[in-house]
Formats: sequence, C-alpha cells, structure tokens
Amino acid sequence: MTAEKEGQQAIVTNNDHLVQSDNPDHPANLIPSLCAKFWTLGWVTGTGGGASIREDDLVYIAPSGVQKELMKPSDIYVLSLAAQVKSLDKRQRVYLRSPPAYKPSQCTPLFLAAFTKRHAGCCIHTHSHWAVLVTLILERQKSTEFRINSIEQIKGFGRGFGKSGNLGYHDTLVIPVIENTAQEEDLTEFLEEAMDRYPDTYAVLVRRHGVYVWGDNVHKAKTQCESLDYLFQLAVEMKRLDLPWITDIEPVEPTASS
Ligand SMILES: [Zn+2]
Repeated sequence: MTAEKEGQQAIVTNNDHLVQSDNPDHPANLIPSLCAKFWTLGWVTGTGGGASIREDDLVYIAPSGVQKELMKPSDIYVLSLAAQVKSLDKRQRVYLRSPPAYKPSQCTPLFLAAFTKRHAGCCIHTHSHWAVLVTLILERQKSTEFRINSIEQIKGFGRGFGKSGNLGYHDTLVIPVIENTAQEEDLTEFLEEAMDRYPDTYAVLVRRHGVYVWGDNVHKAKTQCESLDYLFQLAVEMKRLDLPWITDIEPVEPTASS
C-alpha cells in the first residue's frame, strides 16, 4: 500500500516483525530506552531531539510527535538505506515499516547523512542547553568552530572516520557549527557540507538549536555524546570564569617551602 505523508511518499507495509524482539539490544528496544534516558538528561524535550540506529541496511528511527520518555518499540519507523540511496529524490523515503499514528521525524535525512557519508551505526540529536549555549558564545565571537584542548574528557572521542584510536590529552577537539534553518530537514545540505569540510568530526553543532553526534555503533555514539555534553557544560562554566578553551598549559610547579 502506498500513502502520502507530509508530501513524502511512504511505502506502508505490515512489517511489525522488524520491531518485535525480546533482545534489549535490538534497535527497536534500544531507541525507546535511550530516548527515555536522554529525556531525563534534558537532551530531548517536547518534539525536539531523537536517535536513530543502523543495523546493516536497516535504519530504525524514532517518530515525530511522540513523548520521548514514553516511546514504545511499536512506534519505531524502519527503512532501507539502500533504497534511500537509490532514490533520485532525496526527500522521497521508502519505509519498510511506518506506524500509522505518527509522522516520520524531521531529523530523518540528517540521520541518513551520518549513515551514508560516515557509515555510522548510530546518530543522536540533542537540544541540550549546554550545546545551545556554546553556539551562542561562539556566535558572539563570530566563530563557526568549537575548539577545546588540554581537558581529559577529550579522550572520549575517536580520531576520525577510518582512523584507529581516540584523541589524546594534548590533541584539540574541533566541532563545526552550522547555522539553523526554519525547517529541520533543510539542515541536511549544511550538515553534509560540514562533514566534507571536517572529515574527522563525529559531531556538528547547530546554532541556537543543538548538536548531532554519531558513532560507529550505539556505544560509541552514546559515549561521544555524553563526553561532548560534559565538555559543552565545562566550556560554558569556563567562559563564565574567563578561562580560555584553548591553552598551552604550563605545568604548575610545587611551591617551595620556606
Ligand atoms: Zn532538532
């Protein structure tokens, strides 16, 4: 059966088995549990934010318009990545499973960008206060990059797509910032451009909006998202104390006793 939704053609079939599993690590079970956790952190509120998981060709996506902390596996959309890539019209999406009560998330093409351009296994979008505040501080500085170094938590980030290992204590973490758009879907081309300009980044900040973070799998995406939120909060507090985000640290010498 074919149905029109929000101007997008959606193939609606009864593939409920795609979201039914007793395994807590199944994407259809993980997305609701992750969103409930993110809701308690203030990362997803109202209709904002969400998460998507890719398992081989199948992409699992939270719907729009559902309470994030009350989401159920039966609310999850499923689509085929190969079918999206083949489609000439980027906005036409072919859903293998489409719950009738909801609309697809406006974040869908942005999640797909992380899966197609970076082969990510999971992408998380938050509206975290700290992410938004960092973009406001950078706006005042007319900057399109968040840079921070010499902070232990930087080790929570991978060196980049196709590179092994994580950043070290003395490396600088760089996260690009893109400007917000009236419609979330319209961010896609700017997110993709930022991915091209910053081939090693695992995240993109969106001015006055939030952040998209991805990883090779759920564990890595979640670790990087948590590390980033920690760093954003720290950066805001550092700015309040007039401490620089980039510094050439000088070892603090012990005070000589008299
Ligand atoms: Zn958003």
